[in-house]
Amino acid sequence: MANDCIFCKIRDGKIPSEILHRDDVCFVIRDIAPKATVHLLVIPNEHFLELTGLTPGHADMISGMFLAAKEMAKREGIDKSGYRLVFNQGSDGGQEVPHLHLHVLGGRKLAAMG
Ligand code: AMP
Repeated sequence: MANDCIFCKIRDGKIPSEILHRDDVCFVIRDIAPKATVHLLVIPNEHFLELTGLTPGHADMISGMFLAAKEMAKREGIDKSGYRLVFNQGSDGGQEVPHLHLHVLGGRKLAAMG
């Protein structure tokens, strides 16, 4: 737990937020500033800064996050229409919160990338 980490505070109930899903490796909330009709954040329970710190030992955490994203997309009704999964890494990648998170975006036609 990092004392000043907003996602750790949400995980621990110190900042009120609706937890849509919680399991052994991650939890899911709605993004406070949604960039699509559905915009969820899949966040590991462990305070883990960013992708650059990944090791093979994090395989269960990462696979659990993808499974949670897939299940949540189904629950939100966007599994058939499609959705986008995004990790923002570092400052050029647009990462604002230094606690790993996977964005799940859908519910509208997203612009093609590049
Ligand atoms: P990133 O830019 O990839 O670090 O994404 C961080 C995301 O966290 C942004 O899309 C923010 O809108 C979102 N965010 C920040 N604070 C909160 C919060 N209290 N509850 C939900 N989402 C948040």
